[in-house]
Amino acid sequence: MGTSFKKCLITGGAGFIGSHLAERLLSDGHDVIVIDNCSTGRIENLKHLNESMKLHVVEGDIQDIDRIESAFQNVDWVFHLAALAEIVPSIETPMAYHNSNINGTISVLEASRRHGVERFVYAASSSCYGIPDVYPTPEYAQMRPQYPYAFTKMVGEQYVMHWERVYGLPAISLRMFNIYGPRSRTKGTYGAVFGVFLAQKLAGKPFTVIGDGTQTRDFTFVTDVVDAFVSTAASNLRGEIMNIGSGNTYSINFLVELLGGDVVYIPKRPGEPDCTFADTTRIKEELNWSANVSLEEGVQVMLENIEYWRQAPVWDPAMIAEATQDWFKYLGEED
Ligand code: UDP
Repeated sequence: MGTSFKKCLITGGAGFIGSHLAERLLSDGHDVIVIDNCSTGRIENLKHLNESMKLHVVEGDIQDIDRIESAFQNVDWVFHLAALAEIVPSIETPMAYHNSNINGTISVLEASRRHGVERFVYAASSSCYGIPDVYPTPEYAQMRPQYPYAFTKMVGEQYVMHWERVYGLPAISLRMFNIYGPRSRTKGTYGAVFGVFLAQKLAGKPFTVIGDGTQTRDFTFVTDVVDAFVSTAASNLRGEIMNIGSGNTYSINFLVELLGGDVVYIPKRPGEPDCTFADTTRIKEELNWSANVSLEEGVQVMLENIEYWRQAPVWDPAMIAEATQDWFKYLGEED
């Protein structure tokens, strides 16, 4: 134990966070197996690691247990990150989200249980809190998922905890708050703010600020998140749910100031909180973990890597209105 090298398996390892986790584990000397169906993840995200003999990629869907199970042989640490993300498509195609995020999770749990893994870490989402009553928000806050993505990630977490209780799977769930960093997603759907703003900056278009921009987010840099995952896996914890956040919350106006550029204002979206802010007391107490990267530092790294978003769609207010129609239709106030 301790400094020994582990055989690690990352579902969703070709995705944004998964590829950073793979990089960190490899640089720590561990073996890494990535399982990814490449629906939203991209093998390209791992290209800079391909030299490594210690990285093995299995292209397959986590729902297909027959396809993926053999990869779990002799695995010590499982990191379950594979999931469909994003709000709008989850409202449009809830079955796909159920299949991926719930059925897929059960399949990964079963494969992990059968192979007696030493540690199972689930990537949960702070979207389970919906619009919370308390900031910073502790883990025992009420669950209020607002849309199918949040709901399916929440149910996935409940399955993980159930497998821990019933089968003794050494599992932990980490609830992540607004993660950003190089390679954050740039697929076609309207999504996380960094991808939207960086593409707008490259195109010389104004930032589409929602509401008056005073809403705040717990923007957490991806290397900090990865560090929390590794510390968790290396610990003896089990059956715990812990928030991962930056220890701070930052306004969109401040983000815009750091990025630099013009602004255009667009309507507030229904069901979105004015603030996300993790109470990170638990992970601090359990693992002595806290984030290191400030938003100022993180934005600097994003700007150094801005070329990555050259291929991302450039959103303007009309395109956003069109893309978020279902969001307003299904989550809007009924009065
Ligand atoms: N946001 C914005 N303009 C956009 C997209 C997002 O001002 O075009 C804001 C949004 O109001 C929120 C923050 O950026 O306060 C983060 O949004 P994102 O969709 O990334 O995450 P979430 O709202 O799910 O926390």
